Parts: sequence; C-alpha cells; structure tokens
Amino acid sequence: VLYNFKKITVVPTAKDFINIMLSKTQRKTPTVVHKHYKISRIRSFYTRKVRYTQQNFNERLSMIIQEFPKLDNIHPFYADLMNILYDKDHYKLALGQLNQARHLIDNVGKDYVRLMKFGDSLYRCKMLKKAALGRMATIMKRQAPNLVYLEQVRQHLSRLPSIDPYTRTLILCGFPNVGKSSFLNKITRADVEVHSYAFTTKSLYVGHTDYKYLRWQVVDTPGVLDHPLEERNVIEMQAVTALAHLRAAILYFIDVSEQCGHSIAEQVKLYESIKPLFTNKPLLVVCNKVDVTPMDQLSEAGREALSIFEKNNVPLLSMSAVTDEGVMEVKQQACDTLLAYRIENKIQAKKVDSILNRLHVAM
Ligand code: GDP
Repeated sequence: VLYNFKKITVVPTAKDFINIMLSKTQRKTPTVVHKHYKISRIRSFYTRKVRYTQQNFNERLSMIIQEFPKLDNIHPFYADLMNILYDKDHYKLALGQLNQARHLIDNVGKDYVRLMKFGDSLYRCKMLKKAALGRMATIMKRQAPNLVYLEQVRQHLSRLPSIDPYTRTLILCGFPNVGKSSFLNKITRADVEVHSYAFTTKSLYVGHTDYKYLRWQVVDTPGVLDHPLEERNVIEMQAVTALAHLRAAILYFIDVSEQCGHSIAEQVKLYESIKPLFTNKPLLVVCNKVDVTPMDQLSEAGREALSIFEKNNVPLLSMSAVTDEGVMEVKQQACDTLLAYRIENKIQAKKVDSILNRLHVAM
C-alpha cells in the first residue's frame, strides 16, 4: 500500500490541544446545574463532563497515533528515508509517549468518575471535575515537545513523496560537473523538484519522464553518490541505503573531456567504489561531453581505464548534453534495460539486505 503522507492532519501545540478539548466540553455538555438538584443528578452532570473530556482526548490522540506512518509497515525506502530525516528512535519515542499520555488520561478519567460517586455536594463534585480536567491538561502539557516535533515531521513529510518507490527510476551518479543535471533537464519535463534532506546539506533532484506509456522518475543525488564509500558519514550512507530499495537502473556518468577536474581513470575508480551498492540493479556507464572529446580521440590512459567495462560486460554509452547527440538513446537504453531486468523480488530483497548489512558492519 502506498502511504499517503499528505493526508496527516495538522498536529496542534499542547496549548491549543488543551484549549480545543476544554472548550469542546464546555460547548457540548449541559451547562446548568443547581444546588437543590438531587445529588445523583449533580454527580451525573459532572461525571458526564469528565467522561466527555477523556473521550475527546482519547479520540484526538488516537487519530494522531494512527495517522502517522508506522515505520515497520511502510515501504523500506520510506522507512529508511524517515530514519535519515527524523531519526527513527526519536520518532518512535514521540508516538510512544503520546500513546502513554492517552492511557494516563483514560485512567484519570476512570479514577475521577469513580471518585465522583463519593461527591456529596455540588461544590465537591465540581472540584472533582476541575481536578480531573486539570490533571488531563497537565499530562498533555508534558507532550508539548512531542507535538511540536510531530508537526515538523508532518510538514516535512507532506512535501516529501516526490520519490515514489513503486515507480521505475533512473538514478544518476558520478563526480560533480560530469553532466548529470544537464541530462536530467534534457530528458524530464520542466518540473524538476528539489528536496533537501532536513538536517543535512544534501538535496535530491527528481524529474519525471514518459517512456513506453509508463511514468518514470529520474533522480540525481549530488553529494550522495559522488565520492568514495570510505569517505561517507552515516547519514549519507543511509541515503544510499534508501536508494537501494528503489526499482531503478543506475547511470554512472563519466566526463570523457575530463573538464570536471577528474581523469577518466579517477572516475572509473569512483565507479568501482560505489558499484557494490547497486549489485541488485542494472548499471550503465554514460560517457558524456563527446562534443569536446569524441570517443575515438580518447587518451591512451582513458581508453585503458574504460576497457574494464567491456571486460565486465557493462554497457558503455556516449552522449553530449550540449549537442544532444546520444541523449535520447541513453534514456531509451536505460529504460529498456530496467524493463528487461527481472529478478524474483525475494532474491533481490535478500541480496540488498546482506550487502547493506555488510556495509554497515564495515562502517
Ligand atoms: P553535474 O554536476 O554532474 O550535474 O553536471 P552539470 O550538468 O551541472 O554540468 C557541469 C558543466 O558541464 C556545466 O557547465 C554544463 O554546461 C557542462 N556540460 C554538461 N554536459 C556537457 C556536454 O555534453 N558537453 C559540454 N561541452 N559541456 C557539458
């Protein structure tokens, strides 16, 4: 099931939460009571207010708890991504504490409904009601930081789902300045979205394109897949982990003109370094900027470095994002390769897990 992150209701601050609850009780329960009423009638007047308030707290808290995605039953891509963005432990703790607050408020309600049976005057009953609602409000006040945090998560999540783990994806990688974003802009509609990872300086660029009547997404990940694994920090590592869950073909860009500041040999070396992350995905190597350096004019060292792809049966394509030569062919071949690429899902998932486990252990 695709989780709808956009549908989560606004999470109020603790103060608003309490005000909403108390004013609702005031509006929706009877307001007139007299000293000369029979005590049973007075008790039930106040009991009703306590119960009603407790039920409203319960319903509103249940709604929040239920609306936020459970990390254990969403697509692993989202689970990983949410872990990077919001810290899994913090997230689970916040929801867990709201759940606890719900139970505490239920118990306050029950306790005071019981005590109300011993209220022997309007004054006593009124004081019991006041104490009950006061204690519920105190419990809620303690949830203030959790509510603020969850509201931040909600706002951020509502802008997040531009990457759909169920859509076929092309992931672009390679050193900076090799032409990834030029390619992305060439093949996608003019609606490339930029999404920053909260708490890091990294961004994801996501564009959409059509091929064979299917919708495709193209993801560029500057700063995530453009340097060797050994130099990664934990957050980047997790971003890569999330990407590994997508049904994607990987396009590794090489700037054959070497204008990006890295020799072809260095670029091949980076490829070798990040390749283990994508063993369960089809990989294509794209030689870009052939308008500057055509493939038949490569240096001896460059040709030598690229020969490894031929040896390993990795498809080697060439293009120029400036002249458009080869651009559509790269897109088509990448899409066709992914369409033809079918492994049984289970095997695939297991493979990813074992590779990622190994990488995490190594870190
Ligand atoms: P990215 O950092 O990998 O996304 O690279 P960009 O797409 O931003 O490109 C970096 C620079 O290379 C820009 O100045 C582009 O105009 C230039 N560039 C990209 N593709 C080509 C190409 O095929 N030929 C030439 N001559 N320049 C290119």
